[in-house]
Amino acid sequence: MSSPSSGEYPPALTDAERESLTHATKDWSMGNGLAVRPPPSVIAPEADPEGITAINVPVTLFPSPFPRQCFTQARSVQRAYNELYAAVSRDEEFLADMVKEVIDGDDFIRNLWDVHLKVKKEGYTQPLSLGMFRSDYMVHQDTTGPTPSLQVKQVEFNTIASSFGGLSAYTSRLHKFLAATEYPLLDKAIPSGSLDLPENESVAGLAKGLEAAYRAYGESELGHPKCVIFLVQGDERNVFDQRHLEYQVASASPAIPVFRLAFDSILKHTSIADTSKRQLVYRLPRNPSKVFEVAVVYFRAGYGPGDYPDQQAWEARYQLERSAAIRCPTVLTQLAGAKKVQQVLATPRPSSAPSMLGKFIQDDTEEAKELWKTFTNIYPMDTSEAGLEARKKALDPTLCQSYVLKPQREGGGNNTYRGAIPEFLKSIPESHWGSYILMELITPPPVSNVILRAGKLEQGGVICELGIYGTCVWNQSTGEVLHNQEAGYLLRTKGDKSEEGGVAAGYGCMDSCSLV
Ligand code: ADP
Ligand code: MG
Ligand code: MG
Repeated sequence: MSSPSSGEYPPALTDAERESLTHATKDWSMGNGLAVRPPPSVIAPEADPEGITAINVPVTLFPSPFPRQCFTQARSVQRAYNELYAAVSRDEEFLADMVKEVIDGDDFIRNLWDVHLKVKKEGYTQPLSLGMFRSDYMVHQDTTGPTPSLQVKQVEFNTIASSFGGLSAYTSRLHKFLAATEYPLLDKAIPSGSLDLPENESVAGLAKGLEAAYRAYGESELGHPKCVIFLVQGDERNVFDQRHLEYQVASASPAIPVFRLAFDSILKHTSIADTSKRQLVYRLPRNPSKVFEVAVVYFRAGYGPGDYPDQQAWEARYQLERSAAIRCPTVLTQLAGAKKVQQVLATPRPSSAPSMLGKFIQDDTEEAKELWKTFTNIYPMDTSEAGLEARKKALDPTLCQSYVLKPQREGGGNNTYRGAIPEFLKSIPESHWGSYILMELITPPPVSNVILRAGKLEQGGVICELGIYGTCVWNQSTGEVLHNQEAGYLLRTKGDKSEEGGVAAGYGCMDSCSLV
């Protein structure tokens, strides 16, 4: 990969340069809310009893070089991906088959499905659905053709709680600031204007999605003011990522009331109106006479079993699902984001059979063809022919080195990599293997960068993962798409020795693209 400027990139730094870049980055980050609440390991709760401290988000000091054609390719397919996943979430039969495949080894998916079945029985009252999606990619070097080419390959598609859209716009701004003020001062200056740093409108883009759903909800028939609920985890540390989005939505004209509600307080502060429409009513905790009708519930919680410690939590999810509030996502859209769905979509079919994509979207368009190219090899782990073949690879101590094994989970830290796969499989009942998928590892070309984490610099090889946000509002009954937009990007970077790249999980860091 060529460097953004003529010399070495990022340039070798003297101690003085490292110090000044670190200083500038730390201050800009705090000055602009590129921040998280500290984990107890960094600041003990006793040292901050009022919870007033925030710390820098780990970031790269330089925007990582990213192939321009890959960036363009990922952006160009986002609207088709939005439509694809809207269509998948409307196909109950397809999702039922997927659920059947994994349910034996996965109580969480079973419980989600049960919520859907229960609401279906009494009838859904809200046909509109909001997706705030993020499709994640890594760069793949294809050496099979006459000339080696670079393409993005999809890591996964997120349909619930797709995070970091708030912080990523600010990371792009940080790097633009450093490019204007700091890099020209380095001894081996990066020539000003040599970096191509794309605009990142993730905050505005995601807020537009929420606004579109809020307006599509219509007027309150109960005569209450409408609101948007950000459904969050009580102990969330990544609050500023959410706040940036919240402030943007709230500042719409006319203003949109936004409230944060902890997942474990749903039943305490919301209720269902006694009408056939089943509006979701929110009472302000400090003044319950202030009543709002909830137009949109935006889930930044509820994506994993940890948020459902008891039956009450499932009752709460059921209450939201049967309400007239537009859920982002619905249970069906959450299920559409299962890795099993990605595997089924990506599995090539015999040339005589219609493509899986064609079941959901028009598959002969340029966009659909580009979308198909973003798939990499993913295999079932069931007892089908392909599944048995995959099991052989997964159990083989040599072959397994090229794969990652994934359960139907979100939020990072759930996968098993390479050599650890055989032992892991042997530790769980064989009847549960079908609830996993086996995916070929994508190995992007090496890039180097400097990461600032907890005030310390780490220099070396890094691996980048690009996420493209997309927002979509559709009618679950008719399929009509009311809003479909691409909504900015995320670049996350991790050391090349690390398997997982989650920023919140503590492995990766925020980055932005310098197109090359
Ligand atoms: P989650 O939903 O928990 O984020 P992911 O599928 O995104 O699960 O996997 C977590 C991380 O594991 C990714 O961010 C990436 O760093 C790594 N990873 C996952 N799949 C692959 C793959 N096929 N090739 C290389 N790395 C991968
Ligand atoms: Mg991920
Ligand atoms: Mg995910």
